[in-house]
Amino acid sequence: MFWVLISLLLCWMIYRELRSTVAAPIDMPLSRNVWKPYIFVLSALALLSLWQPIHTWLFQRRLSAISTELADSHIAHVHCNTVIDTLFDQNSTNIGHASPKTGQITFQYPWCNTLLAYLRHPQRADREELTSLGMLTHESMHVRGEYNEARTECEAVQRNFRAAKLLGVPDRTAKSNALEYYYSIYMPRAHPTGEPDRYFSEECAPGKELDERLSDSTWVPQVGNR
Ligand SMILES: [Zn+2]
Repeated sequence: MFWVLISLLLCWMIYRELRSTVAAPIDMPLSRNVWKPYIFVLSALALLSLWQPIHTWLFQRRLSAISTELADSHIAHVHCNTVIDTLFDQNSTNIGHASPKTGQITFQYPWCNTLLAYLRHPQRADREELTSLGMLTHESMHVRGEYNEARTECEAVQRNFRAAKLLGVPDRTAKSNALEYYYSIYMPRAHPTGEPDRYFSEECAPGKELDERLSDSTWVPQVGNR
C-alpha cells in the first residue's frame, strides 16, 4: 500500500506539471512548456514504485495456486503481510497462520521475502529459508482440513519435496532441502527443553502411523531425473 501511495503521489505531480502548462489564473499568461526530463523522471519513479506491489501480488497468486495444489484442491489464498499488517495481526507472534474454513493463509513480514530468498538459491538454503518452505506446506495442510498441529506438521514434512518442486526447485535439490528440513528442523523437536513440542510426533517417520506412504513423499528414496 505504501508504494501504491508513493506512485499515486508521483502521478499527481506529473498531472500538476502538465496542467500548469494549459491552465493558469485568468490574468496570468501561460509562461512555460512541459519540462520533459522532469516528466520522464517522475514517470520512471511512478513505474518503479508500482513494481513492488505488482511483484508481491504475482507472488501471492503463485503461492495461492501451489498451496491449493498441496491442499488437494481446497482453495487457498496466500497473503504476504507488510510490516504494518504484521503489527496489527492478532497472530503476529506466529510466523504464519491459516484458516481451514476460509482457506486464507498469512505469512508475517518478512517471511515471503525469506521464501523468495530460498528460491533464488535453493542449493544453499539456510535454516530460515527451509523454515519458509516448511511454513508454506504446513499452512497448506491446515487449508486441506487438518487442525491438529502434530498431524499438520507431519503431513507437511512428507510434502515438502512436492512443495519445493512446485516452486520450481530442481528435483535433487528439492529432495535434499526436504530431507534437511526433516532431519535438521523437525527431528530435533523430539528432545525439547520443557514442554513437549506440539508440532512433533514420534509416529511421524517412515513406516510409522503417520506415514501416508505418498508416492512422492520426502521419505521415498527415488528422485526424478532433473
Ligand atoms: Zn499450524
